[in-house]
Amino acid sequence: MPAGKVVLSVGDWRRSAMAALKTNLRSGENGMGETTAEHWMRLALQQAERARAVGEVPVGAVIVADDRLLADGYNRTITDTDPTAHAEIVAIRQAARRIGNYRLTDCDLYVTLEPCIMCLGACVQARIRRLFFGTPDPRWGCLGSRLDLRAPELFNHTIEFSGGILADECRALLQDFFQQRRHS
Ligand SMILES: [Zn+2]
Repeated sequence: MPAGKVVLSVGDWRRSAMAALKTNLRSGENGMGETTAEHWMRLALQQAERARAVGEVPVGAVIVADDRLLADGYNRTITDTDPTAHAEIVAIRQAARRIGNYRLTDCDLYVTLEPCIMCLGACVQARIRRLFFGTPDPRWGCLGSRLDLRAPELFNHTIEFSGGILADECRALLQDFFQQRRHS
């Protein structure tokens, strides 16, 4: 298996997080002893917090190119009255506009929740290089939870996937949100 490539089996998220730590994507830690993947996922979590602040389901995403933040986005389906305004789509649109190219060939996407089929489709269309997600989504996740679209030859573009990055924090944010909504 080439370095950095993490292929997961269903339900193996915890181990995948460890694998991500080990293969560690251009290695290097930030001052907090976190891996590069965790560093970017933390920024995605900040985006998710912004979604929560405006009453949206808290999911956030960032797109990274050349070790730099290229774009970010959070779920804004209610705000925009747009069922396609998931965090990944918002970030992909911003990234493409910023680089003036509809292909995001050397870009990596970090999202706090396992992507749905729409967002995975958008990532394939955009030619995203690597996709990292936080917590699995049993309802919509298509990288092993609800569906499994990770087969390498399925599309004419293959994305490297890694799940379970800061999974506990990503999940806690969602759980708190839905719990509060139930009690209000
Ligand atoms: Zn989606």
